[in-house]
Amino acid sequence: MQFAKIPDHYAFKNALIRMAATDKVAHAQLFIGPTGSANLALALAFATYLNCRSPKQTNACGNCFSCASMEQLTHPDLLLIFPKKTSSAIFDAQSDRNYLDTFRNLLKKNPFLTLEEWISAMHFDRKQCQISKKEVGKIIEQLSLKPFMGPYKVVCIWLPEYLHHTAANALLKTLEEPPPSTVFLLVGSNSEKVLPTIRSRAQHHAIPPFSEEAIEQMLRNSYSDLDAHRCKEIAFLAQGNLSKAFQLIEQSVRENFDYFSQWIRCCYSGNLIKLVAQAEVFYKLSIEVQKNFFTYALQMSRATLLGKFNHPLFQLGLPAEATFLKKFGLNVSINQLKEIITQLMQAYYYVERNGNPKMVYLHMSIQIINIFASI
Ligand SMILES: [Zn+2]
Repeated sequence: MQFAKIPDHYAFKNALIRMAATDKVAHAQLFIGPTGSANLALALAFATYLNCRSPKQTNACGNCFSCASMEQLTHPDLLLIFPKKTSSAIFDAQSDRNYLDTFRNLLKKNPFLTLEEWISAMHFDRKQCQISKKEVGKIIEQLSLKPFMGPYKVVCIWLPEYLHHTAANALLKTLEEPPPSTVFLLVGSNSEKVLPTIRSRAQHHAIPPFSEEAIEQMLRNSYSDLDAHRCKEIAFLAQGNLSKAFQLIEQSVRENFDYFSQWIRCCYSGNLIKLVAQAEVFYKLSIEVQKNFFTYALQMSRATLLGKFNHPLFQLGLPAEATFLKKFGLNVSINQLKEIITQLMQAYYYVERNGNPKMVYLHMSIQIINIFASI
């Protein structure tokens, strides 16, 4: 990964480059950014820059052997640590290689990788995530060796939130006084969930989400056949999460819109028979698709609410959506919208926690019928 491939964050990239030039690189740095932000990509670009043989003013050269192996994530001085399934905390060499190969492949395809994508690829869930003491021990052992190519050995810990407390304890001393030329880059999403003992030993960098403009530009560059309206719409819905933007492209936004508009009409007219039929269909969808529907419904409801205040974001999206939201906005009050948003958030919460989707969907729909019926 190179700085030039990451949109936005110009001041921060320059600050990292200046730090590399001064030879006063903080030995433990915490890159905290929301899911789908540039946190991991920036850390990897920084690692690439640190070890580049002929770094340029704003970017690594991209041509030297170090840059080439960093691009493949196979650089011998780049040590990657990331959450694995708890039960595989005691792992054999083969499963360890499988983890690393899958992680590298996913990251090469998408340097804005999210935990959801990682656990989905490895078929485990969030509760089973852990960075074990054994994992940390292995890394500390490798740090006793000097850099192979150098000048730095870079340990990139993705999601230090998942460090088991015994792993964190094992790491503390090395984190505080690492061997010479060792840099720890800890990349997380929620600094509050990083153990304070780890947090307090690192220099903090807050990585903001991507701007809508940056996401839109990335989508235009990556999907030349995608129309400008759709790029704008997805950039708006992604809310700074680039991975989410790519996911949204993969799904049919049109499908969500059709589903949402039919559902709202049924709630508005109190058509329980159709809602029961929809609940049957909803029940058969995967949890990810169900969650995406709620996310979309939430975005549409929020956009309608913003429209009530003549917020310019209301103008974004496909013409059909804008037309629908305008009509919807005329038939619903601000208070009703707030209550609808609350119901949608609750439904999302329950589905995410494996609530029965049919019950959740029907309960939410009945609540919304009542909201529409209220004055
Ligand atoms: Zn280079």
